[in-house]
Amino acid sequence: HAKNCGKNNAKLYSSSLTMQIMSHVKLEVGLRKALQNDELYLLYQPQIDVASAQVVGVEALVRWRHPERGVISPTEFIPLAEETGLIVPIGEWVLRTACRQAMAWQSIGKRPVRVAVNLSAKQFKDENLTQIVLSALHDTGLTPELLELELTEGTLMDDARATMVTLEQLRGIGVYLSIDDFGTGYSSMNYLKRFDVRALKIDKSFISGLPLDSENAAITRAIIAMAHGLKMAVVAEGVETDAQLVLLEEYGCDMVQGYYLGHPSPPESINQMLADQCAMDEPTI
Ligand code: C2E
Ligand code: MG
Ligand code: MG
Ligand code: MG
Repeated sequence: HAKNCGKNNAKLYSSSLTMQIMSHVKLEVGLRKALQNDELYLLYQPQIDVASAQVVGVEALVRWRHPERGVISPTEFIPLAEETGLIVPIGEWVLRTACRQAMAWQSIGKRPVRVAVNLSAKQFKDENLTQIVLSALHDTGLTPELLELELTEGTLMDDARATMVTLEQLRGIGVYLSIDDFGTGYSSMNYLKRFDVRALKIDKSFISGLPLDSENAAITRAIIAMAHGLKMAVVAEGVETDAQLVLLEEYGCDMVQGYYLGHPSPPESINQMLADQCAMDEPTI
């Protein structure tokens, strides 16, 4: 009897595993076609300067409108894109689309709007990355300083020769480099100093417990102090409440991003935000 049970379990297990593999393969086949079928699109989340309460940047966040499954989150398909190498063409599309959009915003906003694009480690290792960045900037006409590239600690810590060369080249181009999800990976303070990183983005896991969580409050303050000591700016991610915003302002955090300030939104919503901002700035007499 016991033997039978085991056999059935094995059968069940293998058939569900088969299904998992099949759906994985199906998703991969779909992802290969997603670009040419125009199924990818970008949402943009505002980054607000704490001192002026103005939008100073937006982060581009990719979505996949799957013909059968509806909208799929990047947390599901970016890992698949990395595994399959599809991240390179997808990443290039994201970069170009974001740069083009940022150019359009320059004429609406009163001040320059930076656009932030996430780069995965795989993209970073692609030997053509700097060429891709240069041509996206060239073709759209966007100023390099208005393109922010978000790297992770893991990407920087990989001390392969190629990583160094790429960072040097990006520095040469003059793009704005930031470290995403800061505090969740391994960082060497040496690297931060060396690579001309302009901003640290404190991971939302540190922000979510604020203001009550005293340990995360201490970590947040320490990151801000360190960043400022190294002449870097700080962005808090995942700001969801007014109490968090008030505390971060008190700590001297430079920029905030999160649902409280604005959800990832289609470009038209950002247009509106920028236009409203201009209206607010007009003198009232
Ligand atoms: P990320 O770069 O750390 O982006 C921030 C994530 O936090 C986004 O999730 C955003 O929607 C979410 N978020 C923003 N505000 C809040 C908040 O107040 N509370 C909470 N709980 N979450 C908030 P999303 O859009 O699902 O993206 C997930 C991750 O996927 C990103 O994390 C990024 O690592 C990756 N990703 C997104 N777009 C791209 C892309 O174009 N290329 C690459 N390589 N990765 C991307
Ligand atoms: Mg990011
Ligand atoms: Mg990221
Ligand atoms: Mg992040």
